[in-house]
Amino acid sequence: MNDQRIPTRFEMQSRWPVIGHERVVAYLARAIQYGHIHHAYLFAGPAGIGRTTLAYAFAQALLCEAVPEARPCGHCRACDRVARRVHPDVTRVSLEQGREAAKLLSIDQVRELRASLALRPLEGAWRVAIIDDAERLSHDAADALLKTLEEPPPYAVVILIAEDLQAMPETIRSRCHVLGLSPLPRTLVQQALQERGVTPERAVRLARVTRGRIAEALRLANDDAALTHREKQVAEVIAALSEPLAALGFARRLAEQYRRGRRAAVEDALRLAVELWRDALWLVTDPNAPIVHEEARAALQQLARREGLWGTARGLRATLQALADLEVNVQARLALDVAAMTWAQGGS
Ligand SMILES: [Zn+2]
Repeated sequence: MNDQRIPTRFEMQSRWPVIGHERVVAYLARAIQYGHIHHAYLFAGPAGIGRTTLAYAFAQALLCEAVPEARPCGHCRACDRVARRVHPDVTRVSLEQGREAAKLLSIDQVRELRASLALRPLEGAWRVAIIDDAERLSHDAADALLKTLEEPPPYAVVILIAEDLQAMPETIRSRCHVLGLSPLPRTLVQQALQERGVTPERAVRLARVTRGRIAEALRLANDDAALTHREKQVAEVIAALSEPLAALGFARRLAEQYRRGRRAAVEDALRLAVELWRDALWLVTDPNAPIVHEEARAALQQLARREGLWGTARGLRATLQALADLEVNVQARLALDVAAMTWAQGGS
């Protein structure tokens, strides 16, 4: 009579090809086990934390040939094909890789997706559609998608992936089951990297510069140039916090990136600035305080000495304000300029 044993969270986690996100994995595993599947999910969280990986893992769990409590098994034909991203019942749309110019998901992309969802599954019980960059649906594309979300075919599961929930039409958001995802603890990222053969020292570097964004860390693990670039970015932000001209130049570059639709990159740089200000604030009160950006301790100590309590608090507040302004679409260049001018006031 013990055939209904519920797998432990650890058992579920170890079966899903996902690093971290334990609560969401446990939730989705249970949904599979009990057959409580929604027609639309929205995975919300910063880029680079494994959202797409999780979406494919869920697709595996939906299509896997094993009994529900053993899904995804990881070695049946369906699991294998989903993992290789060639399963005929799984489609994905995203902004074209590497083409910054493509700012929006087009109506044609959504039409194609709708056409594929209109067909019965070829092999499994479900047709799964994964929509990356869902906050970048064009107006028409969102309208077209809405029709699917309003009357989904019984076998359709749509997984939207988005960073910025505010930028999504309420009509779409409200029809999705929203699951929030966060960056992973750095120790977990380090551990995962070391398990994949990355040296401990490099794993520490990667976990630090990516701030718990595991997918980004795995990408950079094989890309020396990109890792160096990230470290340079930290140095660039510190320079901007310390020197008025560097600050304005930096603000202009960010505004230009924003104008080109690289909103996530701009917000990422600002979040980095928030972390650095916060570190400096800690150092004002205790020069030996543990800080996030240990690699920049000397520069941050200098910043802390120069700005003092009020200066660092003001810098932090201005940066948070710029982030908030961008979220409500205040003119980007203005918001960034105001922040930059506050950053480097030279202890005045
Ligand atoms: Zn399987």
